[in-house]
Amino acid sequence: AMVSMQRPSIDGMLVSIWARNLVITLVLLVFCVPLTFHFATNFVRPIKALTETAHTVSAGNFNAPFPVERTDEIGVLARAYREMVGTIRNNLAKIHELAFEDPVTKLPNRECFRQHFTNHMIGPGGKPNRMSVLFIDLDRFKRINDSFGHDHGDALLCEIAARLCGLLNPSSCSCGNTEGTGPIVQNVLERPSAVPPQVARLGGDEFAVIVPASGRASAVDQLAEQLVQCVEQPVEINGLTMAVGASIGVATYPDDGEDYTAILKHADIAMYAAKRTGGNRACFYSEIEDEFRGQERVTLEVELKQALVRDEFRIEFQPKVDCETMKVVGAEVLVRWQHPQRGLLAPGSFIDVAEESDLITRLGDTVLEMACRQGRRWLDDGLEVPLAVNVSIRQLEKPGFTQHVLNILRTTRFPAELLQLEVTETVAMADPESVSAATEPLLAAGITFAIDDFGTGYSSLAHLQRLPFNTFKIDRSFVCGLGSDQHSRSIVKTIIAMAKSLKYEVVAEGVETVEQQEFLTGQGCTTAQGFLFAKPMPPEIFAGWMKAFSDPVRHHPGAQGNRRGRTEHAA
Ligand code: C2E
Ligand code: CA
Ligand code: CA
Repeated sequence: AMVSMQRPSIDGMLVSIWARNLVITLVLLVFCVPLTFHFATNFVRPIKALTETAHTVSAGNFNAPFPVERTDEIGVLARAYREMVGTIRNNLAKIHELAFEDPVTKLPNRECFRQHFTNHMIGPGGKPNRMSVLFIDLDRFKRINDSFGHDHGDALLCEIAARLCGLLNPSSCSCGNTEGTGPIVQNVLERPSAVPPQVARLGGDEFAVIVPASGRASAVDQLAEQLVQCVEQPVEINGLTMAVGASIGVATYPDDGEDYTAILKHADIAMYAAKRTGGNRACFYSEIEDEFRGQERVTLEVELKQALVRDEFRIEFQPKVDCETMKVVGAEVLVRWQHPQRGLLAPGSFIDVAEESDLITRLGDTVLEMACRQGRRWLDDGLEVPLAVNVSIRQLEKPGFTQHVLNILRTTRFPAELLQLEVTETVAMADPESVSAATEPLLAAGITFAIDDFGTGYSSLAHLQRLPFNTFKIDRSFVCGLGSDQHSRSIVKTIIAMAKSLKYEVVAEGVETVEQQEFLTGQGCTTAQGFLFAKPMPPEIFAGWMKAFSDPVRHHPGAQGNRRGRTEHAA
């Protein structure tokens, strides 16, 4: 079949088809493309937002908000993302906490302290920032921890931390947020410095403080003094009052050392100098004597061990005198260290370290054995001297202590009835059950027990009755205040009255004047001990002193003067 058409009509058709298609295309382009674009961008936008948030998070901002308001799959994905980031954020916070925060006090820890120091070593213009590190070690903390338990120890640390923060500024007590200065620190500064102060707990009973040292030197001095005072105020925990002291060592960067390690070491050495000279005070590294420099704590521990092996410990005897008859009724045994370089050292400079390192048990055993041996020697010479030996909680706690004491008595042949063990008051309170378990066989053997430093540890009467003591030793601090301080007088009166009703003996320590002795005797105190009669003496002097003191000829009017004369001789 053949179809014939005229060309113009085909062209016309084609043109109309093209025109129609063009119109359709244009319509499509005008409406559909924006529509498609609109839908496409709507679909992609949350994904883009999610991606951007993911980038922000990976850059370290874990608080970036997530587009989770959608209900579709993207919303589900965003929620999953948010939860994951939340978990990571919490974990990171935990890691930061573990790495930089002390779990007990919530103060910055040693590492945070180190970073704080090193971050602020260099000041503007590349010059070193002057700053002081105050190394604080608590005195007698070990005793409290051992006596009252770790809960009380931790509570005490928290209280001390809070006090240190209060004195400096709350913002110096968290890691990373150390802007701003407190009233005291403001005082330390003459002008605002680039070094924000920080308080940290380095471990155990050790704290440290960084303060700028750009101002007056006396300001750091003053701060150290205030730190000592704020620590020594008694702390009340669960109805018990306890008191610690602070030994503070100060080293200043860059004067006392060129880096963190040197500064901390020197602050530690200065702290140790403070401790060895009695504690509860501050020492500056720049001011301590050469003999202390270069000595670290470990040296003292090592030296103590060597001293035990080399037999460098000596004992001295301080007489106890009957207040009525003025007769010597015994002596307290006090340990001394005959140091090869530093001469004769008093226990204040080493007992704490011995207690912390557990060397105290060996030292205590040595002292007890030397005392009993000397007591026996005197007995053999016809001189009966009842002896009171100091015992630390560490010794009491050690299994086998009871047997050990009995063994020493047997081998030295010193009569148990002539031995008294002095236990400090806080120790006596530790755990009545275990104290009585350890002491029962000793009591049965005839040994007596005295509570040392009575009045400083806040014993409860209920506790006391269950414990094996029969003697109070009134702490020196009360006797010393007898002349002027009404408060001390009342305490001493109360202790003596309490002792009478419990049928305890009372020994007043640290009697230095006739007035003190007369007051004590007037109150019914049975025994006195102190420099008024004699200072602690080595055994070879003690025997002669005792014979001379008991000489009836010297008990005539003016005997006080004689006694005092002899005191000076003994001293
Ligand atoms: P403490 O048991 O309270 O001993 C009394 C301290 O007071 C002694 O100091 C003594 O010399 C001193 N003293 C006595 N009378 C007076 C006085 O009239 N005025 C003054 N200002 N002081 C006086 P020392 O010998 O330095 O002993 C200090 C502490 O060391 C003792 O205090 C005791 O807690 C401890 N200690 C001494 N020897 C031993 C020991 O063998 N074992 C244990 N665990 N601790 C010991
Ligand atoms: Ca004592
Ligand atoms: Ca005492």
